[in-house]
Amino acid sequence: MTLLTKLAEDDHEQVIVLQNRATGLRGFIAIHDTTLGPALGGTRILKYAREEEALADALRLSRAMTYKTSLAELPAGGGKAVLIDHAGLDREAALEAYGRAVESLGGRFYTGPDVGIVAGDLRAMGRATRYVACESSPELGDISEQTATGVWHGMRACLEFAGIVPRGARAAIQGVGSVGVALARILQSEGMELAVSDMDGARAETVARETGARVVAPGAIFSAECDVLAPCALGGVLSAETAPRLRARIICGCANNQLARPEAGDELARRGVLYAPDYLVNAGGVIRGGEYYLLGRADSSASLARIYDRMKRVLALARERGVSTARIADELAETRLRRPKSFADCYWGK
Ligand code: NAD
Repeated sequence: MTLLTKLAEDDHEQVIVLQNRATGLRGFIAIHDTTLGPALGGTRILKYAREEEALADALRLSRAMTYKTSLAELPAGGGKAVLIDHAGLDREAALEAYGRAVESLGGRFYTGPDVGIVAGDLRAMGRATRYVACESSPELGDISEQTATGVWHGMRACLEFAGIVPRGARAAIQGVGSVGVALARILQSEGMELAVSDMDGARAETVARETGARVVAPGAIFSAECDVLAPCALGGVLSAETAPRLRARIICGCANNQLARPEAGDELARRGVLYAPDYLVNAGGVIRGGEYYLLGRADSSASLARIYDRMKRVLALARERGVSTARIADELAETRLRRPKSFADCYWGK
């Protein structure tokens, strides 16, 4: 399939192909939709077996960002960057070169951390562009921590809906990277009992020591006995294959694109599992970034807390109509995207 045909499938606006021989930079910036404002989305760096996989990831994730910013009522659209990690990469120089590419877009794309990106990477990017959320803007705060706070707001709505008291409830977290560890800290402070897993065993042990969690092998986390499962690693984890193994009453985590296929959301609903749509509850970081950069807000805690209200509304509508939470979230996000660029009359304001 040609690049243009791929872009047309989900109506992407633009893909910028990144290549820089001197640093080994290779990757894509995908801009899905800027109807509501500039594209916001993190930067991911991963080893991909084939460049087609990196492009597919960028296209999928940038589309999800459009839904995320729409549902979060931001004056922004969706984008995502995916960089290919490989043996010939001069990481710091490559991230700086990537920063120059972001800068050249003149504010059409704002970015921040995603899978594989650490603080040093953000600093390297920040030397070349104003459009990255990094430590050079301390008043912005830590984006991954804000993402975790948003997930917690979504989770407390689900717990309340299910009639489960947080203190003493059991949560299992898959992936304790930047967001997962921040979420583990919040859940511990709320008195929840934790189980954690990570492909990086040492990381899982460190987080377990800090939060009193027990460590579960990566292959066993989805079948762990718990009230809440929080997928905080990679996408595509909820499928016809994993659904029968789940023991959790609630699924609420930060990972993007958790449903392998849209039908997986229907299957969860049929099984009585409360699924918190990923892009609804993991919007905390993008809400903070969007409000800071686009609206100049000093503080976004009230906006992050609205994730709780949105989650409750989605749960109520799903129950009322007998459809999955995922379908309701899509419908609400699409409703706002069909509207002209007016933010006074958005769905949630009604
Ligand atoms: P990260 O790279 O810091 O952490 C991911 C962790 O998951 C790593 O520790 C990795 O070893 C682990 N992991 C990978 N595969 C695993 C598996 N099969 N089982 C157990 N552990 C596994 O990434 P992050 O920034 O914390 O992001 C995590 C997820 O949240 C991603 O899907 C990302 O797209 C999404 N997300 C992140 C943010 C953010 O602010 N960073 C915002 C929204 C969504």
